[in-house]
Amino acid sequence: MSGMNKEQYLGVYVSTLTYDDILADIEQRMAAGKKSTIIAVNPEKLIAASQNPELKQLINAATYQIPDGIGVVLASKLKGGRLASRVTGIDLMERLIALAANKGYRVFLYGAKEEVVQKAKQNLEAKYPGLCIAGYMNGYVNDDGAVVRAIQAANADMLFVALGSPRQELWIRAHLDQLDVKVFQGVGGSFDVFAGRVKRAPKLFRTFGLEWFYRLITDPKRFKRQLALPKFLWKVLTEKEAADHRTAAKERSR
Ligand code: UDP
Repeated sequence: MSGMNKEQYLGVYVSTLTYDDILADIEQRMAAGKKSTIIAVNPEKLIAASQNPELKQLINAATYQIPDGIGVVLASKLKGGRLASRVTGIDLMERLIALAANKGYRVFLYGAKEEVVQKAKQNLEAKYPGLCIAGYMNGYVNDDGAVVRAIQAANADMLFVALGSPRQELWIRAHLDQLDVKVFQGVGGSFDVFAGRVKRAPKLFRTFGLEWFYRLITDPKRFKRQLALPKFLWKVLTEKEAADHRTAAKERSR
């Protein structure tokens, strides 16, 4: 993928592709036998990555760094970027599931509690006729070898890993080469949502990008986590000079 489809905040890439762009790109990559990895980024993860070179490298090495979180879109708007709207991990996962049902790609679900991953599988199969969830494994088996063998035995094309961040991203990187899977996505708490355990914000809040506000009023404990948003915007705005300086220096040297 060319750098044209990315913006950079605090030294971390963010993809500017829409859901449809990503799906089309993934299909091309699958046809070419290439593996694709998807990591969702938000202000919290971008701040963490800016302070941890290994995490930054891990995120930057992914095929798609999707802007899950309104804070990243805001940053782009403030800096005159091209990011128009969020691409959330859960919505992208659901679109990939729909694609899999259509095209006959085999899906594997790895992570969450046993009853959660079972229920997620059941609900997704009921919603998407023709979907083949060829295997699943809960996220509390501490035997990576067994998980890898199960995924290979299922002959999976798409793997969704729900272990939380950055554990799921580290797991994907560690096992990427051992697996014949083509699409890898770390999906955090998404299985809990598909299982009906955790409710998403009502449509109205989501439409206006106010999912964070809904979470804040229904779960005030999250306030501390949400401080990442103003902190992130501040960091991005004060990083401006350095970035402009670099561009100017590069242009001068041409
Ligand atoms: N989880 C797991 N194994 C573990 C720890 C967590 O499978 O050892 C699962 C947990 O059950 C939940 C998901 O990982 O389904 C974490 O979701 P969370 O919303 O905390 O992730 P985030 O997106 O916030 O990183």
